[in-house]
Amino acid sequence: PTMLEVRELAHRYGTGPGAHVAVEDLTFTVHQDELACIVGPSGCGKSTLLRCIAGLIRPTEGEISLHGDVVRGVPDDLAVVFQDYSRSLFPWLSVRGNVEFALRTRVRGRTERRRRAQEALSWVGLEASASKYPWQLSGGMQQRVSIARALACQPALLLMDEPFASVDAQTRADLEDLLLRVRREHGSTVLLVTHDIDESVYLGDRVLVLSKSPASIVADLPVDLPAQ
Ligand code: ADP
Ligand code: ADP
Repeated sequence: PTMLEVRELAHRYGTGPGAHVAVEDLTFTVHQDELACIVGPSGCGKSTLLRCIAGLIRPTEGEISLHGDVVRGVPDDLAVVFQDYSRSLFPWLSVRGNVEFALRTRVRGRTERRRRAQEALSWVGLEASASKYPWQLSGGMQQRVSIARALACQPALLLMDEPFASVDAQTRADLEDLLLRVRREHGSTVLLVTHDIDESVYLGDRVLVLSKSPASIVADLPVDLPAQ
C-alpha cells in the first residue's frame, strides 16, 4: 500500500519577479515499510520538499497525501529528524525528558510515556544515558537521541533531512547501520534526503534522483541487492 503520495508539487519562495522556484512538478509515492532515499545536489530543493511534507511550509502548487488523506497543516503521525542535532534537542531536558516531551500529546499517562521513551532509547543503545543532558553527549549520540525521539512516536512516516551529514565518517557509518537495524527490527516507512549518492544507495530500498534546482525527479531506481 501507498504511505505517501506527492502529486505535481511545486514551491516558490517569494512572489513576483524575485520569486525563487525551489521545487517544480514533483510526483512520486513512497510505499509502506519502504526506505526511500531522495538524492540531489546541495540547494536543489530537498529540504523544501521535506518541509512541505512535514507541513512546515505550504506548497505553492500540488498535493500531498499520507495514508490517502490530503495533508493540511502538520500531520500528527509523522516525525522528522533534522541535520542539525545541536539545535533539535531541548538543552534543559534530559535525554529521557526530550523523548517524553515528544510523546506528551500522543501518549496518555506519564508511566506509559516513560516506558515508551526507555524502549526507544534502548533501540538506539542509549538506555544508560537516559538521565544525561544533551550537552553531555557527543554529536553522534545526540543524533541517536533525535532518532529515538522520532521512533518513540511510532510515526506512519519518518522524514530524515541529511541526518548524518554533520557527524564524522565513523559515527556516520555507525548511525547508518543503526538506522538499518532499527528499521529491520521495528519497521517503519522512511523518506530520507541526502546529497550523498553512496549513502542513498547504501540505505535505500529505492533511490529517487533529483535534478539541479528547481528539483524534479530524473530517475526512480529500485536498489536490489542480492540476499545475504
Ligand atoms: P537542499 O535542501 O537541496 O539543499 P533547499 O530546499 O534548502 O535545498 O533550497 C532550495 C533552493 O531554495 C535553494 O536555492 C535555496 O537557496 C532556496 N531557499 C531555501 N529556503 C529558502 C527561503 N526560506 N527563502 C528563499 N529561498 C530559499
Ligand atoms: P540545507 O541545504 O541544509 O537544506 P541551507 O543551508 O540551504 O540548508 O539553508 C539553511 C536555512 O536557510 C534554511 O532554513 C533555508 O530555508 C534558509 N535559506 C536558504 N537559502 C535561503 C535564501 N536564499 N533566502 C532565505 N533563506 C534561505
